[in-house]
Formats: sequence, structure tokens, C-alpha cells
Amino acid sequence: MENIGKPFQQFPNKHSATGTTIFTVMSALAQQYNAINLSQGFPDFHIDEQLSRLLGEAAHDGHNQYAPMAGLPALRQAIAINFKRRYGLDIDADNEITITPGATYAIYTAFTAILQAGDEVIVLEPAYDSYIPNIEMNGAIAVPIALSAPGFEVDWNKIKEAITPRTKAVIINTPHNPTGAIWTKEDWNQLADLVRDTNIIILSDEVYEQLVFDGLQHYSVLEHPELRQRSFALYSFGKVFNNTGWKIGYCIAPPSFTQAFRRIHQFVSFTVNTPGQYALAMHLNNDSAAPVHTVMQQKRDHFLSLLKDTPFTVFEPANGSYFQLVGYGQISDMPDMEFAQWLTKEYGVATIPLSPFYKNKKDDKLVRFCFAKKEETLNEAVSRLKKLR
Ligand code: PMP
Ligand code: GLN
Repeated sequence: MENIGKPFQQFPNKHSATGTTIFTVMSALAQQYNAINLSQGFPDFHIDEQLSRLLGEAAHDGHNQYAPMAGLPALRQAIAINFKRRYGLDIDADNEITITPGATYAIYTAFTAILQAGDEVIVLEPAYDSYIPNIEMNGAIAVPIALSAPGFEVDWNKIKEAITPRTKAVIINTPHNPTGAIWTKEDWNQLADLVRDTNIIILSDEVYEQLVFDGLQHYSVLEHPELRQRSFALYSFGKVFNNTGWKIGYCIAPPSFTQAFRRIHQFVSFTVNTPGQYALAMHLNNDSAAPVHTVMQQKRDHFLSLLKDTPFTVFEPANGSYFQLVGYGQISDMPDMEFAQWLTKEYGVATIPLSPFYKNKKDDKLVRFCFAKKEETLNEAVSRLKKLR
């Protein structure tokens, strides 16, 4: 009886993160202060005309009931053809691809498929803030390994030392949110050497695979024949077709991994928005738009040239993703959470502080700007940031 009136106190804490995700916090603050929102990662421009038309047509033509559990066959086929064309890879659309409501869900589902209480998962930090809660919600333990700012190179010895008999998985993200760094073939080889005689599973978050600049190349875990056997690769259409709000992604994994994945998926979401899947299938087959990396590289270059007139420090231009990290040590010694809020309120530009990407909230006086924005948005944002001089 003593709990009456305080019902929420009975709910269990399933993970160690406190409060609300930084992406919600900063987007809400941007709205409240009418600031330009370069915080949460999403484009502010229209999607391809053909794709929006296809979505309307799919609904109009009656593609409005549940799609098959694994995903619309036409979309899985289109993905397989697309991977053959772009990577030369053979992927079995029936047994290796599952369509999901976004990549975050796919990451959670892959973890849920493989983790048991007490298992350990190695996470390289800074890391997208959903990874550690997704591990912990499964009763497993996240083992964070910090990449060191500002270069964020991988310290292979640290990973080697972190591997124990309880290590069940390692989660990798390339191109990387928030640093924009990309993994080379050599990085994958190093990882392969470390896991060769173990049963460690790889989760490879490749949502920004098509956002790689300066002629560099994305290496997918699927291109590494040895690692492919033990990997879930996770993707999001939101980052390819600029439609993050559609929340449609997919998981590519070997047949036995895919079976385990669907064992969970069938009872959590079962299936994914049908007209969206239908439109994406048609669009993937006919896409003639300029590759998304060309458009995004122009935005990165434009943003970097504008940033030169501000007191922010660019340590490393982003090689991939749509994020640019900058240092603000020359402007202020505020903690990064405080600095991001101050910038939003006082200068009308919202950004993402880096400390929420670390379990221990490490603060290197860095913030992340999203440059997936119209030129006029970037111009206006930087004209405000210039006033910091
Ligand atoms: N992984 C990373 C690294 C991301 O930045 C994002 C951004 N949204 C996602 C996964 C999730 O994508 P989705 O919106 O499809 O869930
Ligand atoms: N991944 C996006 C970012 O890093 C946002 C995802 C989210 O809002 N959860 O900004």
C-alpha cells in the first residue's frame, strides 16, 4: 500500500543512462530558442521528388497492409542488387537481409538476439548514445574503450586487453558518428586478427556508408570474407535518401545470424511500414539522382570554409558522415553540456556536446555540428557563430 501515489518508483532501471537522450534535449532547446538546429543529425532539405511521389502512389495503389515479416521481397531484392553493383557482393535476399524500423532498432535487435546476462560487449567511444543502453537492457555489460581526442585512432592494444572469455561482441561504427573517421581495410584486418580464435560477434553500424568524401572508400565488414561470417551489418535508408523520419533500415547477416535476428524481430516489431518499403524498392531500382556523398561533400567543404572565420578549431575535416567535430577551447572553458546550451540560447545555433557519447561523460571541449543542411542554413548559422570573435 505504501507505493500508492508513487507508482513510477516501481519501474526497473534497465540501463545506466540518465535523463533524456541529448538529441531530444538539443532539438527541443533549438526549437524553444528558435535557434538554427545543427545538433541532431537530419537534413533540412526536401527528399527526391520521385521518392516522395512513389510513397504517395504506394498508398494510393493499395500497398497498405502488413508486409512479410522479413521485409517486402521487392525491397530485399533491390538491396541485394544494389550491394552487388556497389560492392560486388553476393547477398541472399531471402536469408541474409531483414528490413527493420531503422538502424537503432536493428542494433537493439541484434544485441537482443545474441546477448545473455553477464556477457561483455566492447564499445569504442565516443559512441552513438543508443549502444550502451541497448547492451545493458539485455543484462549485458558494456566495456567502453576511449579513442583519444582529437585524432581518435584505435589503440589495438587496449582492445586486445579488454577481450575476456565473457566478451560476446564488439560494435564498430564506420563512417563514425560523431568524429567522421572511417575504417580502412587494415583496421578490419587488425580486428580480424584479434577475434580469429574467439566466438566474438561483430556488429558493424554502417549507416553512413554512402557518406564518404575526398575519393576515400567505405570498407564494409561484409567485404571481409572472414569477418562477414561473424557479423551483423546495420544500415539506414534515412542517411542515404535524406528521409530520417521514415525510420526504415535493414540488417545484413549470415543465414544463421539472420534466423536469430528474426527470432526476436518477429515478436518486437514483426514488420515495417509497407508503403515506405514499397517506395524505397521502386526508388532503389530507378535511382538516377547524384550520389548523396557528392552533395554532402559540397556541404562539408562549404561549412569548413565558413568555419575558418570563427574561433572554433577544426582538428580534422570529417572524412565521412554528416558531422563535423570542432574544439571550442579558444572560446570558453565551460563544460561541453553547458557550452552547447549557452551557444543555443545566446547565439541561436544548436550543437551536440561530445560528453554524452562517453559512459564516463569525458569532456574534451568538443562539440559536433551537423552540416546536412541547406546552404542558406549553414550561412546563417556561421554568420551567428562569427559573432563569437
Ligand atoms: N547509428 C548511427 C551511428 C547513427 O548516427 C544513427 C543516426 N540516426 C543510427 C545508427 C540510427 O539510424 P536510424 O534513424 O535508422 O535508427
Ligand atoms: N543519429 C542522429 C545523430 O547522431 C540522431 C539519432 C537520434 O536522434 N536518436 O544526431
